Amino acid sequence: MHGRQQANSARIAVTTGRWGTLARFLARLASISSLNNRQQRDQLALADELERVVHGGNAPVSGTLRGIDRKRKAAIEEISRRILPAAHASVRGLLNGVLEGNVVPLPHDQLPQSYVNLENGVLVERLGVQKPIAPLLLFNLLTLMRQRPFPFGRCPVCRNVFVRVRRQKYCSPSCTYKGVEAARKEKRREYMRALMRDRRAATRRR
Ligand SMILES: [Zn+2]
Repeated sequence: MHGRQQANSARIAVTTGRWGTLARFLARLASISSLNNRQQRDQLALADELERVVHGGNAPVSGTLRGIDRKRKAAIEEISRRILPAAHASVRGLLNGVLEGNVVPLPHDQLPQSYVNLENGVLVERLGVQKPIAPLLLFNLLTLMRQRPFPFGRCPVCRNVFVRVRRQKYCSPSCTYKGVEAARKEKRREYMRALMRDRRAATRRR
């Protein structure tokens, strides 16, 4: 997911494979309200995952950092300190912003230089060379956001951002249950209100 990579012209599968993994990571990152009240262990696991989804390493072993060498640990700590907070803010700002219906400025200063050329009459956009993590992450986020239909949704129950599969409305089965249950209760309340109104009207006529 780096180097000579196509950006905005190709349709990509946003729920499967490497793009799916990246999209779900971005949705999760956008759903974290603040990194400050998280434990350092969680923060490091997040930084580890960030590095892997951007540079395409193996999937992290259930969010733990066990068994990694000292050199990688130092690199992850560096990412956690210097890259993760800004990346989190940008991703959260962009995704939540558009999902809330706002007009959001693109952080051009944080995006990598990309290049365009024509291939069989189609404009193709690519990154020139491999870039640092934060710009690459944003570049990939924009590539995902340019897909139609828009691949991200916001759960009306828990407000988390998630990767939509087809016309999926809620983030999880438990939120689907809560959402459907709440709608059912609201419908019932409306029905009761209408019933009482009719009864009162009938009493008055008597
Ligand atoms: Zn939810």
